[in-house]
Amino acid sequence: MEVTLQDLTKTYPSRSKKSRELVVAVKDFNFKIPDGTLIGLLGPSGCGKSTTLNLISGLQKPTKGKIFFGEEDVTNLLPEHRGIGLVFQNYALYPHLTVKQNILFPLENLKGKDKLSKQEMAEKAMDIAKLVQIEELMDRKPGELSGGQQQRVAIARALVKMPRVLLLDEPLSNLDARLRLQTREEIRRIQKETKITTIFVTHDQEEAMSISDLIVVMNKGIVQQIGNPQAVYDNPDSLFVAKFLGTPPINVFEGQIKNQHLYIGEEAVLQLDPLTKEHTPRKVFAAVRPEAFVLKEDGPLSCKLSGVEVMGRDVSVVSTNSASLTPKIRSIISAENKLETANPVIRFALRPKKVFLFDKETEKRIYVNLVSQSEGGMA
Ligand code: ADP
Ligand code: MG
Repeated sequence: MEVTLQDLTKTYPSRSKKSRELVVAVKDFNFKIPDGTLIGLLGPSGCGKSTTLNLISGLQKPTKGKIFFGEEDVTNLLPEHRGIGLVFQNYALYPHLTVKQNILFPLENLKGKDKLSKQEMAEKAMDIAKLVQIEELMDRKPGELSGGQQQRVAIARALVKMPRVLLLDEPLSNLDARLRLQTREEIRRIQKETKITTIFVTHDQEEAMSISDLIVVMNKGIVQQIGNPQAVYDNPDSLFVAKFLGTPPINVFEGQIKNQHLYIGEEAVLQLDPLTKEHTPRKVFAAVRPEAFVLKEDGPLSCKLSGVEVMGRDVSVVSTNSASLTPKIRSIISAENKLETANPVIRFALRPKKVFLFDKETEKRIYVNLVSQSEGGMA
């Protein structure tokens, strides 16, 4: 089912009695969610993710804008008539019912022509239980299940009516790290098998990046960027998006464009593509991905080494530079590299494709073509 959000906006009265200002939870959200895709709705706490999901489910009414499921305008439809499946962080299972009864619950409330026989209901419940791999747990009560198993039951319950759209609000946040990883792969598998259009809300960038066909990055109620996860990571439109995606996070420096070079501090670290037109000098934010740094004896960027963190396959080299906006610079270097830890100064070359420039006022991307110093060819 294709889902279209049209100028979707939600404002709340301020929670404080003194202030008359409105809280803009979601502002002018426009997006056509392609049929059968899994969308990761991503952003920091309070950015409007849950509100967006609640508008799509019908639990909340928009202040402005419309929602379509396919051609159908569902903006004023009650949640129970939208054909949605909902899963929340806290499972919300009925504690006194067994797993089977929990899954059957949505089916038992079907009326009129949708009404199912006991036999049909049992079959549907079993099919779904198999899909989410909980068929052995059918007679247990939620209290007798692990968090991961409870969340599977919640997913089964949301899927049993074969919803048109599946909405998941931080479904993995209550699980420990291992289960989180496993359950997110499960969600991806189930989504691929059922091909149900799914919106997955999370504040965890890695989680969103790993399972989504498309990610939508939000901040303060406003969509910042939409795209395939790799494309957004490789080409952030704004400093916010650049900083929000990636671990360790991107390193931001005070930079300058002058003499057809990018300067970090006093050092010319990259060259502007000689084929592009002369660039007027300006100050910029230069954001450098951790994997952009290449250890090089005569590299143009010098930093002060402050430590090395072992990450297994790679090491994270921690250093400082007076032009850095964060106290520490983190660079990812393959563990095979020999690092002379006695030497307090380390020098880096930078991979130009992993360096992004942003306007200092608007924090929007400045698109200039950067290339390596002199020798070129390094990407
Ligand atoms: P998220 O899910 O991304 O953490 P929410 O959608 O829950 O964000 O909230 C977005 C903004 O709207 C926040 O500033 C939040 O405080 C505000 N908000 C949410 N619900 C209400 C409400 N019922 N009344 C007033 N403000 C609200
Ligand atoms: Mg939320």
